[in-house]
Amino acid sequence: MTTIYSARWVVPVSATPIENGAVAIAGERIAGVGPQAEIVERFPEFRVEQLGDAVILPGLVNTHTHLELTAMRGYLENEETDFFAWLRKLTRARLELMTVDDIRVSATWGACEAVRAGITSVADASDAASMSMMALRDVGLRGVVYQESFGPDARLAQDNFEKLKTKVHELRGLESELVRVGVSPHAPYTVCGPQLEMIAGFASDEALPLMMHAAESDAEDMLLRKGCGAFAEGLARREIEWKAPGVSTIQYLKQVGVLDVHPLLAHCIRVDDHDIETLINTGSSVAHCPKSNAKLGHGRAPFAKFLQAGLAVGFGSDSVASNNTCDILEEARFATLTARAGGAHITAAHALRVATFGGELSEGAPADLAAVSITGTHQLPNYDPCSTLIFASSGRDVILTVIAGREVYRDGRVSNVDEDRLRARLLEISRRLNG
Ligand SMILES: [Zn+2]
Repeated sequence: MTTIYSARWVVPVSATPIENGAVAIAGERIAGVGPQAEIVERFPEFRVEQLGDAVILPGLVNTHTHLELTAMRGYLENEETDFFAWLRKLTRARLELMTVDDIRVSATWGACEAVRAGITSVADASDAASMSMMALRDVGLRGVVYQESFGPDARLAQDNFEKLKTKVHELRGLESELVRVGVSPHAPYTVCGPQLEMIAGFASDEALPLMMHAAESDAEDMLLRKGCGAFAEGLARREIEWKAPGVSTIQYLKQVGVLDVHPLLAHCIRVDDHDIETLINTGSSVAHCPKSNAKLGHGRAPFAKFLQAGLAVGFGSDSVASNNTCDILEEARFATLTARAGGAHITAAHALRVATFGGELSEGAPADLAAVSITGTHQLPNYDPCSTLIFASSGRDVILTVIAGREVYRDGRVSNVDEDRLRARLLEISRRLNG
């Protein structure tokens, strides 16, 4: 397909905003970006789509999601002060109350929410990765689905690792040009050291991307540094032996080889300057999840320090069970404002770079883009497109999402799935979860 999208503003992110700009798309790639008159002249045979008073920007990237948990939006509010109880209720609902098809519906609804919010790529951690991969494929969303692995008991490490390997080899068959498989050892407090070592080695051998939760809670920090606290007590109750390494999460992950495979680490709240340096030196990336961190009372990650140090960082919504929306523009605003509240001045343009995580509108780049309407009462007047996007817009203002050259969301409709059927199924699932 050959199309030119033109709008009041084009924000390439890698270059300065273009007023009355246009983006030409040929197949799955961007063919040209520039002033509308210039682009139309350069590609005279392309169909021209006028989006009017809108901003075209690179697709937003959600660097940490659990789309399969979308049915649990608002389901865990009463457990939020007790992270242990929160995890327990979530795990029980997923494993005992939801069928395989429920999980797929839940993940697909989450994928719809993502593309409606201008998100074109996700890093999704999933226990039922085949369902999440199908959800991404059905909606047309790009992403890596990381098959989760659990197992705090070293005696079961080999068994758990073999199970993960089998699952990943099966998941390879579901890969497509847009959807890839990865591995996700859940967290340092749910996966023992030997299992982390095996998974890191496997990721290295098979060139699999790896994502995991890291340095999220006080309980995790206490477990690793001193072997005490809520997680330590939980392991002791289950008669699982745990020897504290006596270091921070990041240094521990380095010791067990996880940082050798350039992981994507979600949260990273409890990290000091030395940890940040370690993350940079190992080529690790961070998924900054400020709303989830705040909602669960886990604290604030040193976002401004990440940026100053040059660490690769993107925004993650985490699951909507702890957010409660999958909206990267909203995440970006919250991150920017909380960083400013802490005394660091982050600009809207800088926040937009993080929100698009290396994406750009430039010739030859993948044709992943979003268009945000800027005609809302809450957006007018507007003087600068970046500031309108970050400080006055949300995912609900998105009017078009294009992934690999294909329109997956346009004018209120997700193109490839029956949202009415999904909505009815989702409500049915929620009634069941509510008992
Ligand atoms: Zn998470």
